[in-house]
Amino acid sequence: MKKNENMKVTFYGGVGSVTGANFLLEIPGPIDTKILVDCGLMQGEREAFTLNRKPFAYNPANIDFLFITHAHLDHVGRIPKLVRDGFKGVIYSTPETKELAKLILDDACGIMTRESKDQGVLPIYEEKDVATAMSLWKDISYHTKRQFNGGWSVVFRDAGHILGSSMIEFSWHDTKVVFTGDLGNSPATLLRDTENIPGANYLIMESVYGDRNHESHDERREKLKDAIISTIHKGGTLLIPAFSLERTQVILSEMDDFFRTSQIPIVPVFVDSPLAIKVTEVYKKYETDFNESSQERLKHGDAIFSFPKLRFMDKMSDSKMIERTPSPKIIIAGSGMSMGGRVLRHESELLPNPKNTILLIGYQAVGTLGRALEDGARKVTVERNEVNVHAEVRAITGYSSHKDSDHLLEFVEGAKDSLKQVFVVMGELKASLFLVQRIKDNIDVGAISPEHGQTYILE
Ligand SMILES: [Zn+2]
Repeated sequence: MKKNENMKVTFYGGVGSVTGANFLLEIPGPIDTKILVDCGLMQGEREAFTLNRKPFAYNPANIDFLFITHAHLDHVGRIPKLVRDGFKGVIYSTPETKELAKLILDDACGIMTRESKDQGVLPIYEEKDVATAMSLWKDISYHTKRQFNGGWSVVFRDAGHILGSSMIEFSWHDTKVVFTGDLGNSPATLLRDTENIPGANYLIMESVYGDRNHESHDERREKLKDAIISTIHKGGTLLIPAFSLERTQVILSEMDDFFRTSQIPIVPVFVDSPLAIKVTEVYKKYETDFNESSQERLKHGDAIFSFPKLRFMDKMSDSKMIERTPSPKIIIAGSGMSMGGRVLRHESELLPNPKNTILLIGYQAVGTLGRALEDGARKVTVERNEVNVHAEVRAITGYSSHKDSDHLLEFVEGAKDSLKQVFVVMGELKASLFLVQRIKDNIDVGAISPEHGQTYILE
């Protein structure tokens, strides 16, 4: 097969924004192939609700394949809409991502239906669209090279970001393009390190923390331990608003380690989130994906997600039991930014009492209750009621599951011998531009922050 033309990539989402990842890769004849990588929901920004409702900039019926890097909502959240709008191709991801995406999409569908009702509009998709999407979905395991008609091939490599997360490598003739998805903050608590990407010529990479570095792994562990111990000493309750996917499992793993090695006294720990419970089951199923130190723990009989006094609260009625359990105790509940979910009921109850601690372990977007607490508000509105904040509020930034600026640069450095161009996306514009400059200044590789909707030729 002769190569007369070149591959092309167009950026339809995740440009100048962390969320809404959506990229189009076109592979020319003899069989013209149109491949989408990720189809994420836009989140956080005020206009997101409107933007997610807009038609796609291309005809979904003309797309042959959709490849998914990982199961976070900002990478999978618009898949059922794509299906509803005419996509009839095949969806590919790792098996882990497929299972997690089903849970995430079912959960999102419920929330979206309620939100749309509140706004008096029709939801962008329904349960039946999620079911249709799942019926089109096939899986490819890490490192299995899959050849397609048209002479191109695909390999998924471990990104180390969340369970099943992958960098997707497309090869056609002598050109190799890699979409990073989100890149893990390696070494991670549970997951393996981000893999190398040998021979990549073009890189479409994330930049959430393109302009910032995280606190060290030792520091974050010490801060978590200190928050638990100080709350136990006060005889209060430690409430951790946490994302159900990855963050909850990481915190449980850390606590298991603290308890097992007697670094902190054993107190009751409640996971009050039906989604987190389901996600944890998928993590248990794929323990072979865990890193060496976690494998060692498992080998020595440490179950990681099961320790004395840990309770998973599935039903709403179960969760009432938490209130009746005397302090000191620890509650992990969603949502991570206190925008909804069972965490709100606990916040109403716990915020007025100075004995309690609220520990924020994730990014808190502007306009959320979590952000108000992080910014030191003394009075907040929880489920339409005014609540005084006397509880202690602490924050840890080091549990991010994204690489920071130094490690993003190091990742590019590792691939520089074969790289022709880096497209820096999936970050706020300021973060993306900062990383572009760092790559140009420190590594002899072309880097740009692409324009939204712009097509680039990959020569
Ligand atoms: Zn992600």
